[in-house]
Amino acid sequence: QLGALPMPDGPAGGQPNVVLFLRDLTSARRLEAMRVDFVANASHELRTPLASLLGFIETLQGPARNDAPARERFLGIMKIQAHRMTRLIDDLLSLSRIELREHVAPTKAVDLARIARQMVETQGPLARERGVELTLEAEGVHRVPGERDELLRVVENLVENAVKYGGSGGRIVVAVTRVAEPPRRAQVVLAVRDEGPGIAPEHIPRLTERFYRVDVASSRDQGGTGLGLAIVKHIVNRHRGRLAIESALGAGTTVRAFFPEYVAERDETAETIPG
Ligand code: ADP
Repeated sequence: QLGALPMPDGPAGGQPNVVLFLRDLTSARRLEAMRVDFVANASHELRTPLASLLGFIETLQGPARNDAPARERFLGIMKIQAHRMTRLIDDLLSLSRIELREHVAPTKAVDLARIARQMVETQGPLARERGVELTLEAEGVHRVPGERDELLRVVENLVENAVKYGGSGGRIVVAVTRVAEPPRRAQVVLAVRDEGPGIAPEHIPRLTERFYRVDVASSRDQGGTGLGLAIVKHIVNRHRGRLAIESALGAGTTVRAFFPEYVAERDETAETIPG
C-alpha cells in the first residue's frame, strides 16, 4: 500500500511527489488492465453467438439445403443467437452512455415508489407464468433526484434477476421505504427480495463486475448478458447512491439501492395553496 507510506510534511522532504506519481501510475495501470479485460470479454461474448451463426449458415448452404424441417429448426436457433447479440450490444451501449454521464448527478424529482409500482404491474404477469408471486410494499410518494429512465432500468434489472434466478414457487417483494437518521440526509431505499437459492459469499463482492456470473450457462439460458448488475451499479453511483447485496445459500437474495431523498430548493407548496 503506497498510500500508507510515511509522508514528510514539507517540500524539503522531497518524497511526496514520488509517492503520488507511483500511486497515479498504479491506478492508471489498473484502469488499463480493466479496459483490456473488458474488450477481451466483450469480444468473446460477441464471438460465441457469431461463431454459432456462421456454423448454421454453412450448414444451411450445404447439408441442410433441402431439409425443410432442419432448416426451420436452425433458423429458430439463429434467431435466438441474433437476439442475444442485440441484447449484448444494447447493454454495452447503455453502460457506456451511463459512464459518460456518471459525473453529472441528475436533479429532477422522480417518485421511486411510482416506478416500483409500474414495474410490479408490468412484470407481474411474467413472474406469475414462472410460478412466482411479485408484490409491492410501497406507500405514498418517495422522491429522489433522478433520471426516470435510468431508475426504471434499475428496478427492471433487479426484478428480472429475482425472477430469473429466484427459482419457481417463491415470492418476490419490491419495497420502497424511507430511512432517516438525523443529522444525515434522509435516504430512499429500494429493496428487491427473493426466496431463491441465494448466492455463495465468495461471489457477492464480484457480482457488479462486467460479465461476472455465478453460473455462466444458467445466465445464458436465461438470456443474461452478465452486464445487468454492472449497469445497476453505475446508475446508482450516478445518482450518488449506494448498492448493497445481501444473500446466503438457501436463504434468498435481497438487493438494496439507497438514494438521497429529494429536497425541494424552495417551498413548492406555497404556490399551490390559494391565497
Ligand atoms: P446476468 O445478465 O447474467 O443476469 P447480472 O449482472 O444481472 O448478469 O447478474 C450477475 C450474476 O449474479 C448472474 O449471472 C447470477 O449468477 C447472479 N445473480 C443476480 N441476481 C441474482 C439473484 N437474485 N439470485 C441469485 N443469483 C443472482
